[in-house]
Amino acid sequence: MKSSKTNIRSLNLTQLEEWFIQSGDKKFRANQVYDWLWKKGVQSIEAMSNLSKETRNKLSESFEFPALQLNKTQLSADGTMKIRFITNDQHFIEGVIIPADDRITACVSSQIGCSLTCAFCATGKMKRERNLYFYEIFDQVAMLNRIAEKQYGRGLTNIVFMGMGEPLLNYSQVTEAIEKITSPDSLGMSPRRITVSTAGIAKMIRKLGDDQVRYRLALSLHAANDEKRSKIMPINDENNLESLITALNYFFQKTKSRISLEYILFKNVNDSMEDAKQLVRLARRIPCRVNIIEYNPVEGTGFEKASEENTQRFANALEQSGITVTIRHSRGKDIDAACGQLANKD
Ligand code: SF4
Repeated sequence: MKSSKTNIRSLNLTQLEEWFIQSGDKKFRANQVYDWLWKKGVQSIEAMSNLSKETRNKLSESFEFPALQLNKTQLSADGTMKIRFITNDQHFIEGVIIPADDRITACVSSQIGCSLTCAFCATGKMKRERNLYFYEIFDQVAMLNRIAEKQYGRGLTNIVFMGMGEPLLNYSQVTEAIEKITSPDSLGMSPRRITVSTAGIAKMIRKLGDDQVRYRLALSLHAANDEKRSKIMPINDENNLESLITALNYFFQKTKSRISLEYILFKNVNDSMEDAKQLVRLARRIPCRVNIIEYNPVEGTGFEKASEENTQRFANALEQSGITVTIRHSRGKDIDAACGQLANKD
């Protein structure tokens, strides 16, 4: 049965103040509650320890607090952590923490499952159950931040929306979550350290430009010609490369923010010198940098990772043509936490 209580996180500060005044309590308590909700990022009314038991009881009578709960934590040999969360309606989602010398990055999910069916991806084989709510996306960041502080002695510095789901198909909730994550009244993270990664929805990329978002944008490209890309990523049928190039240039014109092109190298699929040439031609048409990503084979997909030698040759060809390129070695392979591997496996 659906609860008749209001979700406490749907109220803004003014509404919380009104609630306290109406229930005969002090207005300033709203600030305390707001702090617990968005600055400390707790997942229950019970955890608001500087409120009296009576106030907490009153809050619990009026409000519900649907939140993610920690379900499972796995630590990789390379220090990467995969964290499984359970939603209030009993779905699993996953987030990953990737520590490096100069940063700690959290990779978060935006949907439960995914409706797109990228051929190389484990999440794409799952049914899309539903979009995540903004507070569930926020919970991932707040909880991963606490875990990072405990595990590595420092909090998150960067966030990438590269976990389960296509963030631009859940735009309003992703936007609201990022507003909270970046607000000075909340976690106060810099939007320049947040990257939203899309499989490529031209209309939504243009919308990001119109909305002049302050976070960074990455496109999962993975092939620089339409025929090949449509085979790997069926979304390319309705959002071909020309439409994406136009949309990305529009985004740049509106935001002045350079785009990252993500390119997973698959053996004998997109790792030839001809593929590199096509990628160079495409990359020259967009203000961008290219990230070459090492693939972690996902069972049953038939895709394999390109050889080390080919990866280097491919990157060199780009570099020699004046493209800014970085090779990203995959992390957390032993716990299925790498790109495209998130599928709630045990
Ligand atoms: S790669 Fe991303 S968009 Fe494609 S199926 Fe996987 S989760 Fe969905």
